[in-house]
Amino acid sequence: MADCIFCKIAAGEIASHTVYEDALFRVIMDLNPASPGHMLILPKAHYQDFFELPNEVASAAMLLAKRLALAAKKALPMDGLNIVQNNGKAAGQSVMHYHLHVVPRYQGVAFKLGEGSATQQELAEQAECIRAALEEAER
Ligand code: 5GP
Ligand code: ZN
Repeated sequence: MADCIFCKIAAGEIASHTVYEDALFRVIMDLNPASPGHMLILPKAHYQDFFELPNEVASAAMLLAKRLALAAKKALPMDGLNIVQNNGKAAGQSVMHYHLHVVPRYQGVAFKLGEGSATQQELAEQAECIRAALEEAER
């Protein structure tokens, strides 16, 4: 969809720290991570939200979240994980292209979506660590 930032990122037209890519999805590091390792699963096709998401894409996104969660657990010193997905402004959705948040959690560290920060180098290193763990797990 024209003027959708996540369409452009998913298509590779805007650079991102990509952890994983296949025909249906691109997985990127969140630019303002709620915690170290915060990833976003973006479908390559534009669906505004969960209500619009075809069943097969919804299923595939959740299965991919599981693979990423396991990889993140190997790659990072995390203690827990949140899977979060906002639908509509009232629910906190700020980018109107469906995306699933995969958020590693650390004991005693609070999180608030959209309010964190990380350097480009930190994002690149985290993406590389998780990508390597994913490849290792699935080799
Ligand atoms: P929402 O509030 O819509 O569920 O989440 C949007 C998320 O996208 C936020 O966590 C925000 O930090 C992230 N985000 C917004 N714009 C960009 C961007 O251009 N690149 C990346 N990597 N993340 C973004
Ligand atoms: Zn889009």
